[in-house]
Parts: sequence; structure tokens; C-alpha cells
Amino acid sequence: MADMINLKINNIPVSVPAGSTILDAARVAHVEIPTLCYLKDVSCVGSCRMCLVEATGARGLVAACVYPVSEGMEVKTNTEKCRKSRKTSLELMLSKHKKECLSCERAGNCELQRLSVEYNCDPHRFEGETETHPLDLSAPYVVRDRDKCINCNRCVAACKKQAVGAIGPIGRGYNVHIGSAFEMTLMESVCVGCGQCIVACPVGALKERTTVDEVWSAIADPEKKVVFFTAPSVRATLGEAFGLPVGTNVEGKMVAAIRRLGDVEVFNMDITADLTIMEEASELINRIKTNGTMPMFTSCCPAWVKFVEQKHPEIIPHLSTCKSPQEMFGGLLKTYYCEKNGIDPKNLYVVSVIPCTAKKYECKRPEMQGEVDAAITTRELARMIKTAGITFNTLPEEAFDDPFATCSGGGTIFGATGGVMEAALRVAAKMMDGKFEVVDFPAVRGTAPIKEATYNVAGHTVRVAVASGLQNAETVLGQIATGEKAYDFIEIMACPGGCVNGGGQPTLPDSIRNTEDLKSLRAQALYASDEKNSLRRSSDSPVMDMLYGEYFGAPNSHKAHKVLHTSYKADKRI
Ligand code: SF4
Ligand code: SF4
Ligand code: SF4
Repeated sequence: MADMINLKINNIPVSVPAGSTILDAARVAHVEIPTLCYLKDVSCVGSCRMCLVEATGARGLVAACVYPVSEGMEVKTNTEKCRKSRKTSLELMLSKHKKECLSCERAGNCELQRLSVEYNCDPHRFEGETETHPLDLSAPYVVRDRDKCINCNRCVAACKKQAVGAIGPIGRGYNVHIGSAFEMTLMESVCVGCGQCIVACPVGALKERTTVDEVWSAIADPEKKVVFFTAPSVRATLGEAFGLPVGTNVEGKMVAAIRRLGDVEVFNMDITADLTIMEEASELINRIKTNGTMPMFTSCCPAWVKFVEQKHPEIIPHLSTCKSPQEMFGGLLKTYYCEKNGIDPKNLYVVSVIPCTAKKYECKRPEMQGEVDAAITTRELARMIKTAGITFNTLPEEAFDDPFATCSGGGTIFGATGGVMEAALRVAAKMMDGKFEVVDFPAVRGTAPIKEATYNVAGHTVRVAVASGLQNAETVLGQIATGEKAYDFIEIMACPGGCVNGGGQPTLPDSIRNTEDLKSLRAQALYASDEKNSLRRSSDSPVMDMLYGEYFGAPNSHKAHKVLHTSYKADKRI
């Protein structure tokens, strides 16, 4: 057991493991110390000075997020000196800040606004010369507003943790700001669009590039038939935007809410997660049996694909050729669905609801041929529901529209790290050995950064690995390159924890993010749904029988390749 340190926080005795910070100890004492630049698992640099406290043995005020506890220490978190210091720090931040609280997307959910109110700040105390800068609108997935940035560096830490490093501090003193090397726009930089910087940002300086107005216009257009489909993880997070506890599965209410946005149909993207598995498992088996390019990597995460194209083009032949579930659904709707229902594809407006900012970029890739007209994040959907005056929490539970309603549990767990691998194993093992009945693969579940397992199926040894977060993907690539590890099939999701923690998911207050395990709680909602589903394998879904029976013939058929597969190209950046 770790050595324990005894100390007092505001006269409350606590005992915490050696190496803990004052901030850790305060939590044990149920005392909240304000923070801005600190974010659990992402950023801990003690630069914003919001968490300054008085501690015996320390000279002056110390930053609680980085200052270690010591035996017998007495900490005071709420003295006049602490409060005055925090208030001055906030007022200095406000002196440069574009104060647009009336219309800012983060109003009501902004850490700077909350603390400024709590500390009774005068936003004009240090009024002086201010500069204005244009928004960075270069990327189709994110908007950067330098004039709202408080230089907390949380986005920089998040991007560094992704092994991308597209953004960092530039300049000195008053002129310091966050940007890309040589003042490149985000689109010119090495950014992969994962949006982890957006969810890390405590204020409204980063947000997704919204396409909500286009969606409203399409709904109002009598010439258009509008269909929505929702990604697996959205049902596990949308409720947070309406105050429901983290990990609440709101599938039925989500469908009911979208249906009330207008004359639209609502489909289940878990269907094309199932379809991805059918295609990917067949591709894997084919590569194994024909000594094809191995190991094979998943390709359903567009930020990972962009990372490979930009940073590791040598991996391109190893990527599965399967499109992501979003693009498979777009392709399916603009071909099969339109043909079957006599709809001109030009008049079908396809909206995907995704946990992801990278998918906004993905649907604009030329090879995707505009199959998805608009990709909106969980946050954007929540805003549409609020704009429409729909009282989400009182809605009845409704089912997805046929023919794309019934999915397998394998399709649902796609939204969590390890879910794609588990769903693929369920199907690949059964395809290789018809008697293989196992559907639970616990070794690939959970939020560990890297997971690995080995299975023996029909005389083949299949070595698998799962990594989430691009830093962890980089580790796996390094281990393969040096020969330290060898695998046959590898799942990579760019966001730590997978899509449940995607860049388009609700931005929760720091008080929740710093204390709760969002990744696990959200993933549990998906695994609980999988458990309840009598169809666990993607191949069990009657929709797969319908699609292969009526249209594609068989997985990896010529027609399936035309609609459901894609190609990649190297995109070397500086
Ligand atoms: S979107 Fe991802 S890669 Fe791009 S700047 Fe943000 S964290 Fe970095
Ligand atoms: S953009 Fe947001 S997260 Fe990044 S430094 Fe500015 S305020 Fe902090
Ligand atoms: S992990 Fe999911 S949410 Fe994150 S970039 Fe990839 S597909 Fe998008």
C-alpha cells in the first residue's frame, strides 16, 4: 500500500497517498478548488493561477493542481488572499477576452463565465487596447476564435496527447497566442480533425463548424426528402445535454426528438456498423487465407485514416478498404434505398448525427462523392432539439424507422474502444469456424489505452490489438516496426476511449469531467444495450440478410466494393 500523508484542508483532516497534489487532497475533503488550465488526464501545468491556495511550508500562494502534499501540511483554500488573487487573474483574462456571452455557444457552460460570476468580477477593470483577429474557418470541422482564447493551453495538451501537435503557443508576453507552426491555418497544418481540442477548451474559443442551418433549410424544402441516421455512441451521450446522468442511454427519446424536428425519417447507424463488420471480417479472413498484407488495421475512424495518410503513409496498404459506417450509410441510401423507393438521389438529403468532428471532414472527401450531405455532432443535434422547443426529457421512447432499425449488439458497441474488434471477432470467428459460438471477448473491453489478445480459430492463431488515442496508436506502430510485437488485426480509434469520448460529444463542466470517468460510464451504456440484444453478432441482423439478399450478393462482392469500400492516398505535411 502506498505511503499515506496526513494533512488538513480548511481544518478538515485527510489522508492521501504520497505524491498526491493539494487538489487531489481537497477532493478527498470534499472541498472544491477552482481550476481553468487543469483538466484530468489531459493538462496539469499550474499556469492559470486559479487554484492558488495558502499552504504551510510554502512561500506565498501555491498552485494546488501541481503542488505536492506533505505530512502535517495545513492548507487554506478560501482566504481573502486566495480570493483576491483569483479575481485579479480572472479580470486580467477578461481584459483581452471577446465578451460575447449573449450569443456564445458556450454561454451557460463556460468555465470563465461561471468563475467570473462566482468571483463577482468586473470585466472592464483592466480595459485597455485590444486586438481583433479573424476566425480560423479553414477547416470544415472546427472554428477557432483567437479572441476568446484565454491561453490555458488545454487544447495544446490534448493535441500533443494525440501525437499530432498541430497547435502550440506562439509569440511572447502580451502577444502570446495559440496557433499552428508558421501561422498556418488549421487546414494547412497536420491537424487530423479529432476535435479533442474542442472538448478540452473551457471557453468558446473552439467549436465545431456547424451545418445546422443547412439541415434546417433541407427540412423546410418541399423538394427534399430528409433522412437522419445516428451513430452508436450518440444515444449514450445526448442525454447529458439535457441534464441526464452520464451513461444514460436515451435511444428512444433521441429517435422521438429527431422525428419531431420535421418530416424526416430516423435510421440507426448501428446497421452500417454491422455492415462494416460483415465487410471487414470477410476482408480479414481473405487476407489471412491469401497471405495478403498484414496486419490489417481498422479504417472506421476518419481521424486515424488522416493520421495515417499524413504521418504514416507506409501503413496505407494495411488499412482495411472498408468505408466508415457513416459513409457506408450514405452510399447505401443514395444507391439501394433510392433505387428501391424511386427517389432521385439529388432529392435525398442525408444527415448523419455523429460524436465526431473528423466525420465532418470525411464526408467532404472527394472519393465520398457527397453521399452524406451534412454531418452534425451530438452537440449540434442537442441545439436543434432545443431550438425546436422539444422537451426532451418528457418525450416517449420511439423506435427507429424501418428498414434500417434492427441492429445487432455488435453494431452498438462500435461506439466504445474495443467494440469494433469484439464485433469483428464475433463474426470472423463464426465465418472461419461455423461451430464457434462465443460472442463475449472481454480481453478487448475496457478503457485501457492498449489491449491485446490471442485467439485460436479453425487452426489459425489470430493476434489482435486495440488502441485508442493517437499517442497509443503511435506506440503500437513503433512496437510493430521494431519487431517487439506482431499482430494480425488492430483496431485504432483516434479519441481516447473511442467515439463515446469523441470531439463532437457534449462538453460537460470541469466539475464533472475532473471527477467522473466519462469514457467508462458512456461505454457501459452501450455494452448494457449489447447484452440485452438477442442478436449479438452483426451477421445475425435480418437487415444484413435483406441487404446481401436484395443488393450486394455477398460481403466483398463487386457491388459491395463499389458502394462500401474506398481508397486512401498519402498526404505528407511538414
Ligand atoms: S482537431 Fe485534433 S489534431 Fe486537430 S488541433 Fe484539435 S486536437 Fe489537434
Ligand atoms: S483555445 Fe481554448 S483550450 Fe486552447 S488555449 Fe485557448 S482557451 Fe485554452
Ligand atoms: S474515435 Fe470516433 S469520434 Fe473520435 S475521431 Fe474517430 S470516429 Fe470520430
